[in-house]
Amino acid sequence: MNVCEDRHTPKYEITYKGIKGSRYNHVWLVCSTCFENKKCFGDKEQIVNMVKINDLSLINF
Ligand SMILES: [Zn+2]
Repeated sequence: MNVCEDRHTPKYEITYKGIKGSRYNHVWLVCSTCFENKKCFGDKEQIVNMVKINDLSLINF
């Protein structure tokens, strides 16, 4: 899964339109900061759908 930045805590799971001609959409986990501040992540014309991640917690043992 693609994540905006390794150390960020994703808040949204966003499906972006693929490149024209590509049959695959691109799913990214994006934090709220990147979504609001980086045009590449926040460009609504490129978004197919987005899901808010409520309780995504990573537990390491
Ligand atoms: Zn981020």
